[in-house]
Amino acid sequence: MTYPEKIDTLLEADWIVPVEPAGTVLRHHAIAIDEGIIKAIAPGEQARAQFNPREHITLDQHVLIPGLVNLHTHAAMSLMRGLADDLPLMEWLNKHIWPAENRHVDTNFVFDGTRLACAEMLQGGITCFNDMYFYPGAAAEAALTTGIRASIGMIVIDFPSAYASDTDDYLTKGLAVRDKYRQHPRLSFCFAPHAPYTVNDKAFAKILTYAEQLNLPIHIHLHETLDEIRIGLETTGIRPIERLQQLDLLSPNLIGVHMVHLTDREISLMSQQGCSVAHCPSSNLKLANGLAPVAEMLNQGINVGLGTDSAASNNRLDMLEEMRIAALLAKTQSGHAHALTAHQALHMATLAGARALGLDQIIGSLVVGKAADITALDFSNINLTPCYDLISHLVYTVGREHVNHVWVDGKMLLKDKQLTTLDTTELHHRATFWQQRIGTTGN
Ligand SMILES: [Zn+2]
Repeated sequence: MTYPEKIDTLLEADWIVPVEPAGTVLRHHAIAIDEGIIKAIAPGEQARAQFNPREHITLDQHVLIPGLVNLHTHAAMSLMRGLADDLPLMEWLNKHIWPAENRHVDTNFVFDGTRLACAEMLQGGITCFNDMYFYPGAAAEAALTTGIRASIGMIVIDFPSAYASDTDDYLTKGLAVRDKYRQHPRLSFCFAPHAPYTVNDKAFAKILTYAEQLNLPIHIHLHETLDEIRIGLETTGIRPIERLQQLDLLSPNLIGVHMVHLTDREISLMSQQGCSVAHCPSSNLKLANGLAPVAEMLNQGINVGLGTDSAASNNRLDMLEEMRIAALLAKTQSGHAHALTAHQALHMATLAGARALGLDQIIGSLVVGKAADITALDFSNINLTPCYDLISHLVYTVGREHVNHVWVDGKMLLKDKQLTTLDTTELHHRATFWQQRIGTTGN
């Protein structure tokens, strides 16, 4: 006789959408979790016989999906949510965001702002975010405190800031943060040169050398606005993507953020070089930057993930909303209702983001051996009734108000809509403190 195997958690739900294999919907299955890893996914009855869990959770009328991967954000900027709305990118950056950052951003700002962002992201079913901001060590601490998974960007920008004096200093400080936290299983790292118009060639060459040595992604704003391309042409004589090509930066390690304005040749080039794209539709819409040619990028086999960008340019960190907007926009833009299907949108928000970060062996889908990063959505809500196609519902009907529980590495970070590792009263106090400080000293 064999005895049931001891595990940490058996999680049963009415439906599971594992994302891999594509299009699969499992009915009345359970996920067996031990030491943060998915040990088995099996029909409920079979799993109950096979395992002896310390904790047995049954979620009627719930759908389990992989935790959402936010492929581009500046988490700490949640403290600047709504600071300067209804402005174009360059004016928004030059007159409002950068001056406010110069005055106020320090380790405490980044720690508080990142925790505020983590609270919002977890409440919206996001379990991993790819960050780009000053004081990445404070962002790493905030992620560790919260329990969320994070890809910490080692930011590089030509301008001096309170954080670093020049591009070498940015690189040195970023690499020191990586050295300090690299053993931590929930943290990964990438280089985060801000944009072609804010990083010089010499710095790009150093970033490339380090990225190749360490096999880390390079995460950069790219072809976001027509202004950026005009500045590139005026200062270098070539378009930014061509400049990055000449600098040998186009590779499977590159994550081009936004990629709104592209020629056909540039789309082919990005595809040939195996680059990934972080599509941020809400941010592009709000800053009036244009519509990225997502359907064409997908047709050419480019790995396209989704990002929220920051709360200063969105103003929500809501990946369920980004999925819906991305799917709707691509249809109107292409004139084809079949462009960017619900399946594709869900894949973008999960596995494509994980792949761009080099984490697709660990997260992005619910399969045996991967981390138990899971989001549970409550489908009992009358607003989700009836449901003929569950995956379509996830993209076109579900909102973050339907997110009930979230696990990262098998640990429940959201339970019945309540955060288990963050004190929302304290977070509210901290956000109010920063609002008063930024509001009274001008921005
Ligand atoms: Zn951004």
